[in-house]
Amino acid sequence: MNIDIRDDAVNQRVDEMVQRVEGIKREDLYYFNQPISELEGGARVRVNGRLMSMYASYSYLGLVGHPRINSAAKNAVDKYGTGTHGVRSLAGTLDLHVELEETIAAFKKVEGVITYSSGYATNLSVVSALVGRHDYVFSDKMNHASIVDGCLMSGANFVRFRHNDMQHLEERLADAPAGSAKLVIADAVFSMDGDIIDLPKVVSLCRKYGAWLMIDEAHSVGVLGATGRGIEEHFGMPDVIDIKMGTLSKTIPSVGGYVAAKKDVITYLRHASRAYIFSAALPPAQAGAANEAFKVILDEPWRIEKLCENTDQFINGLKARGFDTLMTETAIVPVLCGADERAFALTREVQRKDIFVLPVISPAVPEGLARLRATVTAAHEPDEIEKAMDIIHKAGRKLEIVQ
Ligand SMILES: *Cc1c(COP(=O)(O)O)cnc(C)c1O
Repeated sequence: MNIDIRDDAVNQRVDEMVQRVEGIKREDLYYFNQPISELEGGARVRVNGRLMSMYASYSYLGLVGHPRINSAAKNAVDKYGTGTHGVRSLAGTLDLHVELEETIAAFKKVEGVITYSSGYATNLSVVSALVGRHDYVFSDKMNHASIVDGCLMSGANFVRFRHNDMQHLEERLADAPAGSAKLVIADAVFSMDGDIIDLPKVVSLCRKYGAWLMIDEAHSVGVLGATGRGIEEHFGMPDVIDIKMGTLSKTIPSVGGYVAAKKDVITYLRHASRAYIFSAALPPAQAGAANEAFKVILDEPWRIEKLCENTDQFINGLKARGFDTLMTETAIVPVLCGADERAFALTREVQRKDIFVLPVISPAVPEGLARLRATVTAAHEPDEIEKAMDIIHKAGRKLEIVQ
């Protein structure tokens, strides 16, 4: 059947999206899905034949392409091949998976770790395995989409609290029936604004109301804490988070997700979380790469120091040039533009000067808060950062985003 003759809601949705995308492309404002053909160190990439400075990377410690990590991946392929024999519970577990989980457990200083084949699948599956009908899940309004989807899929009462607003969280917790199971979930570092959850306060509220605490460390591992161990190290509060979730796709240059927790919780998740039971194991190359990356972070502490210095330079430099960077304290630096079109226009101006940076628009962020979402890494050098900021500044003045 010709799909064009099905004049229904599905077709309408498809048409609307295609028209929106084509409209943006016609104005030369479409910057998504650009293929990178070459990495030149961690801070430069070749895109459409042009060498560009990279300010949109999640590889915060500059570990993509690290020789030790690459060779761990190659060795894993030589030893185990490219796939597994299925799901972890049946024939898919390799000794390499066990080793990876032990490496992460040592890094996060916990009893046990379970890994999944993506961070998205981890949140979806873990939240919906932990809570269900009659339970309550409390989620920060700026939490990542994978958390929101996990909450919705769980069927639990889904309660959202205002972003990092602890008074509001307390009111919401107080409203839930006494005796009901409660789970509070937040990102450690918020992926759009770069700010950090008020962990001390969340922990005290969870204790007061008997709630479980789950924190998504996608952007905090390798970024927060003197040795990059994440948010508990940053606040000097060891083992206060029940469910420490993380990804293997950002600072860790691989793919996958994990939960670090008490041994009994891990046993439960191995037998109750559907993404573990019904989806294939991590491929050997990715498990090997991730395993080595945690070791590299501990062996090369200069990367964390350099990331901190670069982050300070980038945030302070953009502020000094008049930009609003919200409350960020981390390598994720929002450069506010206002309306969506202004974020697109600023992206176009700076990309033409070979700065690879991307816009974030509504509905991913609130209307009127469209921005460049710039990231800085340990792979950048101070003079490059200065140059990039000058380019952003010049474009921002031209567009009257700053004076
Ligand atoms: C990227 C991200 C995820 C999803 O991880 P993937 O490994 O890319 O699937 C989950 N949570 C947060 C906060 C993220 O930024």
